[in-house]
Amino acid sequence: MTKQKGNLFILSAPSGAGKSSLYKSLLQADQKVRISVSHTTRAPRTGEEHGREYFFVDVDSFLDMIAEDAFFEHAQVFDNYYGTSKKAIFDMLEQGLDVILEIDWQGARQVREQYPDAIGIFILPPSLQALEERLTGRGTDAADVIARRMSKAVNEMSHYDEYDYVIINDDFNEALEQLKAVFVANRARTPLIQEIHTDLINDLLS
Ligand code: GDP
Ligand code: ADP
Ligand code: 5GP
Repeated sequence: MTKQKGNLFILSAPSGAGKSSLYKSLLQADQKVRISVSHTTRAPRTGEEHGREYFFVDVDSFLDMIAEDAFFEHAQVFDNYYGTSKKAIFDMLEQGLDVILEIDWQGARQVREQYPDAIGIFILPPSLQALEERLTGRGTDAADVIARRMSKAVNEMSHYDEYDYVIINDDFNEALEQLKAVFVANRARTPLIQEIHTDLINDLLS
């Protein structure tokens, strides 16, 4: 795979830890960041729009896309399929944009295998109690769905050490500042500078 001009980030967290709130604020603060819009077979929540939060598709369409090798990675989470299409990310990376994949740890493993330069960020809640309160407070999921997500949270969090960065989302603004800093710092990594500023480096060293 050729080297891209933007960085690919993987953002994972147990449901309710605040990853959607954090990346939405990051998108507004940093013009060079984009989110990859996944395909999913789950039903849209109130306020979600096709093509913005997700491309909402039926199971047959999803299975067709798997057969056509259209996915960079895909996984089954909470009885639904989720996947990142190849098209969703490579155009943007080529343009020098940073792309966030909001995916679970299973998808993260698949991405790292195919794209070892991907940078992993894991969001942790300040406590299990806070996690449950946030899931309840968000008001988007029924009690049985929340109970299932809580029971999966510890397993999801046990994979935190497979990631390059861990951000504890206690104070939201502090967590957001850390997230922004990770994106900015990774733009100065040597292999990326070599790719983007080849001519400059050749000039300087000639
Ligand atoms: P939320 O985490 O409560 O916002 O619920 P969602 O239904 O939006 O996501 C459920 C889980 O699916 C989360 O763990 C996401 O990280 C994961 N997920 C979302 N999109 C993808 C994807 O394209 N691929 C994979 N592998 N996981 C995904
Ligand atoms: P995720 O995308 O990880 O499932 P969300 O971004 O939807 O999580 O956050 C879950 C709920 O917690 C939302 O209602 C959100 O407003 C709230 N939340 C997020 N971060 C914080 C924080 N630092 N302190 C308090 N509440 C938060
Ligand atoms: P707006 O329609 O005002 O541009 O964006 C509405 C909200 O959607 C904002 O919170 C913005 O950050 C978020 N948003 C913009 N683009 C995307 C995207 O590609 N995916 C997701 N999930 N949210 C997005």
